[in-house]
Amino acid sequence: MRPVVKIGGSLLRSADDFIRAAKFLASYERPPIAVVSAVKGVTDMLLELYKTRSYLMFEEVAHRHISIARALGVEDEVAPLLRELEAALQLPKEPWAVDYFASFGERLSATILASVARRMGIAAKLYIAPIVTDSSFGNATPIRLDYADELREGDVLAVVTGFIGRDREGRFTTVGRGGSDYTATYIGKEIGARKVFLITDAPGVMTADPREVEEAEVLPLMSIYEAVAAAQAGAKNFHPRTFQPVLEAGNMAVEVRSYHSRGTLIGHIYPPPPYKVVTRCGQGSCVVGLAAEELTKLGGVSLGRYTCRLDIPPRQAHELLVKPYIKYIK
Ligand code: ASP
Ligand code: MG
Repeated sequence: MRPVVKIGGSLLRSADDFIRAAKFLASYERPPIAVVSAVKGVTDMLLELYKTRSYLMFEEVAHRHISIARALGVEDEVAPLLRELEAALQLPKEPWAVDYFASFGERLSATILASVARRMGIAAKLYIAPIVTDSSFGNATPIRLDYADELREGDVLAVVTGFIGRDREGRFTTVGRGGSDYTATYIGKEIGARKVFLITDAPGVMTADPREVEEAEVLPLMSIYEAVAAAQAGAKNFHPRTFQPVLEAGNMAVEVRSYHSRGTLIGHIYPPPPYKVVTRCGQGSCVVGLAAEELTKLGGVSLGRYTCRLDIPPRQAHELLVKPYIKYIK
């Protein structure tokens, strides 16, 4: 079974980045299904463009993609999408149009990646929004995956747009900000993948936000229940539903990592340590871990089986509950 590999937008900023992504994807034994985010910062720009309809902003979006595509020799593939975006400036302001504007980010980046892969001699097939969703624009829920058999059995690199889908009427939808990871795990579940790689610029899932807790470390292993809880508690800016498909799949693991790091392996296992991730929760902290419920005995408030809120700041919660175990996970 071939893997699903999501490439985050933070790894797609320049022409060289696209070459690097294509090389990385080509290094898998079996050509994977690549799920692609928009170029870093582009979704924000497109949502701004929807609001302002500023021609200057359009030119900025166009320029970012043209300069990348030109350097890679794939300008012709990108030009039609930019003309379509220019025409979109005339559209009315309606909920569906927000997602239509946002859809260009992933459509552009996936088109560039598939095109550059081919230029590098890597056979690739492009899939634009194969996920059919409901019509909740901005927060759509996947209903089914088109081309599932082809994606499952294909033997060339499949490049799929992350984050976006289409409703039953064919209109573009989005699953919510930061949702590429979620679309990747959803696709993994639908094709029966054993492994989904979420490749980002961070080394893995960390025990806390390193900007807030300097001692934070990458977790080597995590249970899927903890990952679901950590995403809901806001860890690593995960989309809250990122790991939901993994729960449903039963037999699929996720690896969160950078190109080089060992990363975090998440699966249907129950590994130590008992407390794994601390996030900021209002004035206090949310502690996520298999033993989080225990913390109610220390005055914590349970927010679910694997999350407990404590009245102390993240640094202190980390020091008390996570740090004693760090020497074992390093
Ligand atoms: N491009 C989308 C966003 O910025 C989805 C993603 O990157 O995960 O929200
Ligand atoms: Mg993201």
